[in-house]
Amino acid sequence: MISGPSGVGKGTIKRALLSRMTDINLSVSVTTRLPRDGEIEGKHYFFVDQSKFDAMIQQNQFLEWAEVYSNCYGTPRSFVVDNLDRGQDVLLEIDIQGALQVKKSMPTGVFIFISPPNMEELASRLLSRGQDSKASIDLRLAASKDELKRIECYDYLIINDDIEEALEKTMAIIMAERCRVENIDLR
Ligand code: 5GP
Repeated sequence: MISGPSGVGKGTIKRALLSRMTDINLSVSVTTRLPRDGEIEGKHYFFVDQSKFDAMIQQNQFLEWAEVYSNCYGTPRSFVVDNLDRGQDVLLEIDIQGALQVKKSMPTGVFIFISPPNMEELASRLLSRGQDSKASIDLRLAASKDELKRIECYDYLIINDDIEEALEKTMAIIMAERCRVENIDLR
């Protein structure tokens, strides 16, 4: 599970990780947010309206869901459970509210928090990527301050001041977790 403030570089780390560790399966979330330019249905998100999202909640289709920056986001339960049952690793990139829900139902999951070197850097990354409105950037920066206070809920903290180093640390964590005796089938 990877979490961290918007603009911290989670997306870049996630993409690089998936291209280098090709046996990791990415969970594609469902969201009520409108697609950004270039976002592809089923690849970046499954884009749905609020009534469809609400129906999915009622049908217990989410492993977790949360309202983040005024939109709803949820992790489809079946994809995660099916892959874990087959012994496959699944990567979730979700916010802290979602991570805490997953921690309750799947306490053996590995929780990694990606942090910016400082708030100024985060603000400048959000502005320079040019994807969000001023109001959305302000909302994301305000939420980040709260998220940063809850780092102790996670197993690992990676400070992303160098993307390659952050990626290597993420891969090292995954490889180490795979070598844990309790994670190896010794029968
Ligand atoms: P964005 O709108 O920038 O794609 O994502 C906004 C935030 O929603 C990010 O912090 C991202 O980690 C979080 N997010 C994406 N998918 C999910 C999900 O399925 N569940 C939860 N709880 N958060 C998600």
